[in-house]
Amino acid sequence: MTVGLDARLRDVVGAKTAAALDKGLGLETVGDLLSHYPFRYAQRGEQTDLGSLQLGEEVTIFAQVRAAVQKSMRPRPGKRSGSYLEVVVADEAGRTLTLTYFNQPWRVKELVPGRWGLFAGKVAQFRGRLQLNSPQSRMLSDGAADSAEAVEEFAGALIPVYPATADLPTWNIGKCVQTALDRLETPADPLPAAIRSRQRLMDYATALHQIHRPESFESLGAAKKRLKWQEALVMQAALVRRKAEAAVEPATPRPTGGAILEAFDAALPFELTAGQRRVGEEIAAELAGTRPPVSHHHPNQSELCPPMHRLLQGDVGSGKTLVALRAMLQVVAHGGQAAILAPTEVLAGQHHRSIVEMLGELAHGGELGAPLEATRVELLTGSATAAQRRSTLEAVKSGEAGIVVGTHALLYDGVDFADLGLVVVDEQHRFGVEQRDALRSKAERPPHTLVMTATPIPRTVAMTVYGDLETSRLTELPAGRSPIDTHVVPYTDQRWMNRTWTRVREEVAAGRQAYVVCPRVGGDDNEDTGADDRRPPLAVTDTIEQLRTGPLHGLRLGLLHGRLDADEKDRVMRAYAAGDIDVLVATTVIEVGVNVPNATAMVILDAERFGISQLHQLRGRVGRGSHPGLCLLVSEAAEGTASRERLDAVASTTDGFALAELDLEQRREGDVLGAAQSGTKSHVKLLSLLRDVDIIEAARADAVELITADPRLRQEPAFAALVDDLAADRGEYLEKG
Ligand code: ADP
Ligand code: MG
Repeated sequence: MTVGLDARLRDVVGAKTAAALDKGLGLETVGDLLSHYPFRYAQRGEQTDLGSLQLGEEVTIFAQVRAAVQKSMRPRPGKRSGSYLEVVVADEAGRTLTLTYFNQPWRVKELVPGRWGLFAGKVAQFRGRLQLNSPQSRMLSDGAADSAEAVEEFAGALIPVYPATADLPTWNIGKCVQTALDRLETPADPLPAAIRSRQRLMDYATALHQIHRPESFESLGAAKKRLKWQEALVMQAALVRRKAEAAVEPATPRPTGGAILEAFDAALPFELTAGQRRVGEEIAAELAGTRPPVSHHHPNQSELCPPMHRLLQGDVGSGKTLVALRAMLQVVAHGGQAAILAPTEVLAGQHHRSIVEMLGELAHGGELGAPLEATRVELLTGSATAAQRRSTLEAVKSGEAGIVVGTHALLYDGVDFADLGLVVVDEQHRFGVEQRDALRSKAERPPHTLVMTATPIPRTVAMTVYGDLETSRLTELPAGRSPIDTHVVPYTDQRWMNRTWTRVREEVAAGRQAYVVCPRVGGDDNEDTGADDRRPPLAVTDTIEQLRTGPLHGLRLGLLHGRLDADEKDRVMRAYAAGDIDVLVATTVIEVGVNVPNATAMVILDAERFGISQLHQLRGRVGRGSHPGLCLLVSEAAEGTASRERLDAVASTTDGFALAELDLEQRREGDVLGAAQSGTKSHVKLLSLLRDVDIIEAARADAVELITADPRLRQEPAFAALVDDLAADRGEYLEKG
């Protein structure tokens, strides 16, 4: 009897195995199982490089038995006694590995020298040598065909290796897959036929067979391409549709110009950069609803203003905040309110201070002597007192506050706006899509959205994860920016370390300020100090004491980290900004957006513990004024190691986009996508945002065409079901968030 993709596994592989598949891998249906793809393919005689095994790694190796010797254990008190089998296996190159099997004497019969087998287990160490202890083992039969299965394993050159669990080794999963494939009725092909033929993609059923039981590398490649295409097209269709839907919900147009914006521009002490002007005009037109109409046409709604959805990328210090402020003023000038959402209280506090400062008297709305067009800027964070909070909420609700700055506290119930017209999200990478949506839901009509990020996002990531946003880039820094000199300093070299602290003292002596950054807060036993065998990362609480009594003796040191209460953080930041602290010893709370132009030196301790983008962000805290910046990356990482290479890369360029690409190459994609991609993970298994740029771009174009012609995908029910699934999973995630 044949089964469909939605058949329960218990009806196909039996209740016990089905339970193990569900428990261990979360696979419930035939479709789930068939999209549990092999992560590699073993070949008989392939080179499983036994020289590259890593301690602690879960491996499945393909190797040949060289020797098997039965040994007995000397009885010792409290230890198990008995026998064990010591087996030496070798790869093609002759590199060997020892396997030990405890109390399984019968194994000697099958572990015959000369035979090949698959061995799976965790790489352990014994007397300084790597080995596998009682690995799951599956011997392949000798040349003589003693079972149909064995013949297949010999003939089918490619043996699928599945992500497995302790209860379910890869070959058991393979067997289940085979059973499911044998009984599978040909499924409807979800990919639209036109796209399939244009892109020359194999049909779905063939692809499923070929990815699990490839006949050749060619057919495997074709199967992967086909399945990746499907993933890319489903994802792009969901994004394109979401964008199209957002575009038909009308937003309130906010015309360009307006008294407060004009007054602000007139008082601006510098010229806008060309990029600020260009992006500013783009945004102004979108807020006003005067940009050209979106690609697909909705005849009845021609005079509505689609809400802006824009991602503004620009390196640290490129002047994004100013662009955002001008957009906020345009909205305020036409009766709306703007909210700016920051990832931390420190940053919210700083935005509030700098916006109030930039606006000058224009921030004193309602006060005696303030200009008529002035507004008010409120700060709302989780740490406000009840009374403060009440008065802030009142000003937000009445509309008196034109601009509201806050952390995610702004998202809570009980924060009502009179007319929220624009939401600015600072540092999207710290902010999930879900928060953006929560804030958007606070307005009767969808507000315009501007998302700012200093983390340059590679094109495919922008397209995939932020596929429903238009993107703008500020590519140049404002004139008068000072260069930053970056060096890697070996932590163990006392001369270099002395020089480092001398440089900090020199900067302070010249009237400037410095940051010292450590990876850890310290003073808490529960803190994660790193599970590996390295020493714990340096902590700010220890470091500040050492500096105070040692190399930075006599300087005014300040301490800043995420565990201080908000008032204290605010007090420290103000003191530092006012120049009352010479050296701020901090964790990465200062990573984003902190702006103290008088700070010129940045010393990052244990620098190899930070990611490339993080280091670049931290470095962006100096060189913001008229004096050149200095960034010292202090590290124990030895020359030639990957960690050291990362640091050298950061030292060699200040091009944030180049560093972002490098960062992406080095990190696993899951880390890069983070929360932004949650809810889509189970839908993207084979597709790589790094390597499959061509597929993603082509799928994007096809998705636009498809949705434009058939917004509800009525012609493609099987495809529509996949798109709905993805949208629902994403939606569910958003609600949970
Ligand atoms: P970002 O948010 O992109 O890191 P900011 O908007 O904080 O950058 O700008 C950094 C600094 O540069 C601020 O002090 C800001 O006032 C200043 N600035 C912004 N635009 C210009 C400009 N066109 N010319 C000179 N200084 C500028
Ligand atoms: Mg900023």
